Amino acid sequence: KAKAEGRGRAIAYDREMDIVLAERKAMEVALRAGIQDNQLFVVYQPVVDARTKAIVGLEALLRWNSPQMGMVSPEVFIPLAESSGLIDRLGLFVMREALRVMRTWPQIGISINISPAQFRNPFFIPNVTRLLDESGIRSASVTLEVTEGYFIHNPAHARGTIEALNALGVRIALDDFGAGFSSIGYLRQFGFDRLKLDRSMINALEDIPRGREMLQATLALAAALDIPVTAEGIETEEQALFLRLCGCDQLQGYFYFRPVEEADLPALLAENAAAGIVSLSA
Ligand code: C2E
Ligand code: MG
Ligand code: MG
Ligand code: MG
Repeated sequence: KAKAEGRGRAIAYDREMDIVLAERKAMEVALRAGIQDNQLFVVYQPVVDARTKAIVGLEALLRWNSPQMGMVSPEVFIPLAESSGLIDRLGLFVMREALRVMRTWPQIGISINISPAQFRNPFFIPNVTRLLDESGIRSASVTLEVTEGYFIHNPAHARGTIEALNALGVRIALDDFGAGFSSIGYLRQFGFDRLKLDRSMINALEDIPRGREMLQATLALAAALDIPVTAEGIETEEQALFLRLCGCDQLQGYFYFRPVEEADLPALLAENAAAGIVSLSA
């Protein structure tokens, strides 16, 4: 009987796997069609100066509005794009869009998320070079955001990529710091231009014992290494105050701004300029 039950479970498991795989496949087909159909677009979340509250940059975030599924989270479709080989096209689309939009506001920095899979494409660096050239945007106002996985799994390759990007003059930010291993070793090794502190670290302020101390120690480490820090996911004034006191020079989160569509940028940025608080990025 035990054996039969075991077999039953195995069959149920197989069926579940089939369903999961079929759903994945269907979603991949939908994503492919969505790209053709212009269902994907880029939104922009302002990043503010921690002291002046001036908008100093925008982070480009990809969105997919599917007629069948509604808004699909990038946490869902980005991994799918990575595993199905669509990420290179999507990544270039985001970069082209972001650089086009930035032509109107050259004084503001732009951050673009890059998947490890994109770096592994031998045409990545040539493509970035060409898009930058075509856009006329200063490379120093472009930051590429990367997560630690790439540096942990491909340290040698990552070193080469970073060198090439440094030569191009674009900045590199380590995204989601504090969410994974957050090793001190590679932090120093790779010479990042900026750290982006993960929202889970900000939530730790209220959620876990010693959260404050952890945050302070992390920011002290970054300061000791001379790496500026952006805190992500700021939702309250208390968080903003604390992170500013701990030395974060840039803040990002719903407390300030949610991601906005391109059409809303002119009003948003004009308002900032009118308040005399659009600062020139270094
Ligand atoms: P990320 O790069 O760490 O982006 C920050 C995420 O936090 C964004 O979610 C943003 O909308 C959200 N966020 C910002 N402020 C707050 C806040 O105060 N509270 C909360 N709860 N959330 C906040 P989003 O847009 O859903 O993107 C999720 C992740 O998907 C990104 O994390 C990034 O890893 C990936 N992603 C998004 N767009 C792209 C892209 O164009 N290319 C690649 N490779 N990945 C992307
Ligand atoms: Mg990011
Ligand atoms: Mg992040
Ligand atoms: Mg993330």
